[in-house]
Amino acid sequence: MTDNAPMMPILRVEGVSFVYDSPIGGKSVQALNDISLVVETGTILTVIGPSRSGKSTFLRLLNRLQEVSGGGHLTGTILLEGRDIYDDSYDAYQLRREVAFTFDKPQALDLSIRENILFGPRLAGITRRDELDGLVEETLQAAFLWDEVKDRLDLNANRLSGGQKQRLSIARSLALRPKLLLLDEPCSALDPVSTAAIEQALIKIKHRTTVILVTNNTKQAARIGDRTAFFLMSDLVEIGPTRVIFTNPNDQRTDDYIAGRFG
Ligand code: ADP
Ligand code: MG
Repeated sequence: MTDNAPMMPILRVEGVSFVYDSPIGGKSVQALNDISLVVETGTILTVIGPSRSGKSTFLRLLNRLQEVSGGGHLTGTILLEGRDIYDDSYDAYQLRREVAFTFDKPQALDLSIRENILFGPRLAGITRRDELDGLVEETLQAAFLWDEVKDRLDLNANRLSGGQKQRLSIARSLALRPKLLLLDEPCSALDPVSTAAIEQALIKIKHRTTVILVTNNTKQAARIGDRTAFFLMSDLVEIGPTRVIFTNPNDQRTDDYIAGRFG
C-alpha cells in the first residue's frame, strides 16, 4: 500500500433498510430506509435527528444488538473492516467485543469500580494481576475518571454519580479494546461538567477506537464530530464533514433542523 492509498473505512454500510415486525393487529414500521455511509478509522461520526428517525435502530444493527431485542427484517450489508457482520461465520459475541455499546442511562454492575472494568477481561480469560491492574488504570484514564476514583477502586460502583457511572461504562467498554465504540445519547441525563468530561474522553479515545455518537444535542455533535449524519424519518438526509453540515448543508431540512426550526 502506498501512502496516498485511500484508507479502508472501518465501517461500510450499504443500502441498509430495517422494518420492525408488526405487533398483533398493528402495522409494521419501516425504521430505516436505504442507508449507505462509511466511517473512517480514527474519527468520530456524530448522528443527529429528531426522535423516531431511526438513530437507535441504526446503532443497534451495528453490533447485532437488535437481533437480541426483537423481531424485524434487515436488508443491505454492514461491513466491519471489509467483513460482513451478518455473515454466518461472524460470531456475534466476537462482534460485540469488537463493537462496544454504551446506553443512554448510566448503568453499573453491582460490583466494585475495579470489578466493573475487569468483568469483561476476566471472561475473556485475562488473569495476570499486572495486566488487569494496567487495564483498570488505562481505561479509567481514557474515560477521564481516574483522578476521581483512584483512591477508592473497591467502592461499589453504584455509589458513583450518574456522570461518573457513565464514564465508568465507557471505561468498561474500552477494557475489551474494541475497534468501534457506539454511544446512544450517553449525555442525555448528565450535567454539563460530566458531559464535557465525556466529550474530552471521546476525542482522546478516537485515535484508538473509532466512535459513533448518537446525540440529541446538536451543539454536542458540532463540538466533537469529525463527520455528522442527519437522520430524518428513517432516511439519511445527508452526511458530511461536521463543519459543512453545520455551516453550509446541502439540504434545506438539515438547515432547518440545526437552526431549531423543528425537532
Ligand atoms: P430514534 O432513536 O431516532 O428515536 P428509533 O430507532 O428508536 O429512532 O425508532 C425508529 C422507528 O422505529 C420509530 O418509528 C419507532 O417507533 C420504531 N421502533 C423502535 N423500536 C421499535 C420496536 N422494538 N418495535 C417496533 N417499532 C420500533
Ligand atoms: Mg433513540
